[in-house]
Amino acid sequence: MRNRIFIALGTALIGLTAVLAQSLTNPPTMAPSKTTVPSPANVKVQLLTTNGQLSGPVEVPRVVKTDAEWRQQLTSEQYGIARGKGTERAFCGVFYDHKKPGHYECVCCQLPLFSADSKFDSGTGWPSFFKPIAPENVVTHTDISHGMVRSEILCARCDGHLGHVFNDGPRPTGLRYCLNSASLVFVERRQP
Ligand SMILES: [Zn+2]
Repeated sequence: MRNRIFIALGTALIGLTAVLAQSLTNPPTMAPSKTTVPSPANVKVQLLTTNGQLSGPVEVPRVVKTDAEWRQQLTSEQYGIARGKGTERAFCGVFYDHKKPGHYECVCCQLPLFSADSKFDSGTGWPSFFKPIAPENVVTHTDISHGMVRSEILCARCDGHLGHVFNDGPRPTGLRYCLNSASLVFVERRQP
C-alpha cells in the first residue's frame, strides 16, 4: 500500500516537473493551451478547387513557423492579432462591412476559412459568420483570458488566432463566429 502511494507520488512529481519545465520554456502569453500535447504533423482540412468547390477532407502538413518567420511574413498588426491573440478595435477592421462575394482565407497560411455566403451583419463591428467554410478548417478551444470564458477560434492548419465563437448567432446554426479582419485575406469570387 505504502509502495503504491510512493509510486503515485513519484509519478505525480515527474508530471509536475514536466509541466513546470514546459511552462518555463513557453511564456504564457504566446503558448497555446495544448503545449503539453504535441500537435500531429498533419491535419485534415477541406481545400477549394480552382472553380471554387470544396474538396476533401484531405490530409495536409500543419504549417509551423518560428516567431521570427511569422514576424517577417506578417505586418505588425497581423502578427499581434493572428500570432499574439490580440483583438482589433470594433468598426476598425477592413472586413466588418465588407459584402463582396467570395471567401476569406487565413492571413498566415491561406487556408480557406469562411465563405461570404455565411457572413451576416452582427452590428458588433467585427466581421461575423454563422459557420466556417468547412468544419475541419477551424478549431476551437476554451479561452479564460480577460476574466471571461470564451471559445477561441483558430486556423486548423497553422493555429493562427482568428477570433471567438458565441451562441447568439442567427439561424441555421445559432452561432456567431466573431473574427478579426487582420487574421483574414479576402479572395473575390470570379464570375463565370
Ligand atoms: Zn492558417
